Amino acid sequence: MKVKLARIAGFCMGVREAMDLALEVSSGFDGPIFTYGPLIHNPSALELLREKGVEVLKEIPEKGEGTVIIRAHGITPLERNRLEEAGFQVIDGTCPRVIKVQSIAGHYAEKGFLVVVVGDKGHPEVKGILGHAGEKGILVSSEDELKALSLNAPYIIVAQTTQDRERFKEWSDWLLKKFPDGRIFDTICDSTKRRQEEVRRLASEVEAVIVVGGKKSANTKRLAEIVEEEGKEVFFVETEREIDEDALRRFSSVGVTAGASTPNWVINGVLRRVEAIPGKDESIFSRAIWRTLRFLHESNLWTGLSGASLCIGASNILGIKGYLGALIAFFLVFAMHTLNRLIDEKSGRFNDPLRTAFLLKYKKVFLSASIFGVVAAFGLALYLSTLKFVILLFVVALGLLYSVTRLKELPGSKTLFVAGAWATLSVLIPCKDPFNSPSCWLVLFFVFFLVILRDVLMEIIDLQGDRLVGRETMTILLGEEKVLKFTAVLCTIFAVISSFPSIFLKGMGASFLAFPIAFLYGLFLVKYFKREKLGQNLRLELMVEALSMVFMVSSLILSIAI
Ligand code: SF4
Repeated sequence: MKVKLARIAGFCMGVREAMDLALEVSSGFDGPIFTYGPLIHNPSALELLREKGVEVLKEIPEKGEGTVIIRAHGITPLERNRLEEAGFQVIDGTCPRVIKVQSIAGHYAEKGFLVVVVGDKGHPEVKGILGHAGEKGILVSSEDELKALSLNAPYIIVAQTTQDRERFKEWSDWLLKKFPDGRIFDTICDSTKRRQEEVRRLASEVEAVIVVGGKKSANTKRLAEIVEEEGKEVFFVETEREIDEDALRRFSSVGVTAGASTPNWVINGVLRRVEAIPGKDESIFSRAIWRTLRFLHESNLWTGLSGASLCIGASNILGIKGYLGALIAFFLVFAMHTLNRLIDEKSGRFNDPLRTAFLLKYKKVFLSASIFGVVAAFGLALYLSTLKFVILLFVVALGLLYSVTRLKELPGSKTLFVAGAWATLSVLIPCKDPFNSPSCWLVLFFVFFLVILRDVLMEIIDLQGDRLVGRETMTILLGEEKVLKFTAVLCTIFAVISSFPSIFLKGMGASFLAFPIAFLYGLFLVKYFKREKLGQNLRLELMVEALSMVFMVSSLILSIAI
């Protein structure tokens, strides 16, 4: 099945910031913590917030204690007063764009204007805006209500931020024609507008569209309406469990979009499930390829192959014959990553629920395979030499030290440890006499940075889940955009300097140019990440792991061709 993901899908800026705020408060504040109403419409995220001590406050009690976080929708001034009078410390997570609408409503109401709010009846954001307009607020949620309006004073029109812009324009123009003493404020959020434009475009390119999000979410419902307006069949689901496979088999291409409060891992789950459904005209061959790649990815065999490729590429540059080093790298990388995922099931639940479910379903098989992998790696290392065995022991001990100490709490420490371990495995294990070979250390230096590149890109894919489980990665600390910029600079610098050895150093063959090629591929990945919607973690992870394969293939081709 061909699946197209809308470029704008999932958390909007306001929801993301409110979520970050709740996570920050949960780790830094004493006493009970609440959000006033559910922060997002996603049961698993709410469950995790609950585990972190963030409960949902449904009603404001007479007396209370602790901290209350206001969600992105905002609240009325009256509700805020009641929360403070009850004894809560109030932390405002209202989206800045919603604050702007509230301020316009409050400002003009104070000046004596009527405030017409175009929005959904009962929606918390609308209640908040009306609360700021006080007695001057008038809600219009249907065409009938619009036609029944009688305005006998100057007025302004504002919109709930997630309204459809075309309809808002149509309604406000009509009103202005009938009652000219008015002023229109288009307060529809740009992110909503772009999301809606994008879904219209998406609907024109595919045969059906799946809209992912809470059934109560106004902006998600609107996305589904737009698809229907475009004459395409729409499937409105909250999670991948609601997907109707039989119904989707009738199509050869479907689009996927998601509301502003839908987390990435829910979108991922839907994408993975839909991708596995055979499309109307899909050939058996392309299905078989996709299934194989998916199996390799979910079983961590692809990651193991990535480790082995790095080793083959590095060995080829150093002129080392034999593939025992690559086998050791394959076994250990596969085993360590699988064990890690089985242990760290929590972040897997958010970053890649289907892979985690797959690993847990066959837990005994994967546990046995991992133990076999560790034993095989040590056996082969011992077969090579005692020194290799000791080096391997050092790598594993370092990994254990990292897992059981507070080192893992240091931001970016995971990236450095993984890069150190992979580089040691790929270069020091196959190298005959590593301590007397300067070229071995030069190769190790560049391999180390290739793995850093791989890890940083993986962190970006796992950003939302890592943030939820409280992991301190560089990407979380610096933000996705800065990290992508930094990675692009890193790739460019390393593409240039890694080309020097084969030009200036005697004894360094053309195969060393595999490094600049791999860093240029890294640069392509950064550009691809910027362009493509994050959330397609299967495709992106396959492409990131292919970094080592690009390195290996280039090194082999260059050594044969030049
Ligand atoms: S849709 Fe726009 S206004 Fe509403 S919370 Fe998101 S960013 Fe803010």
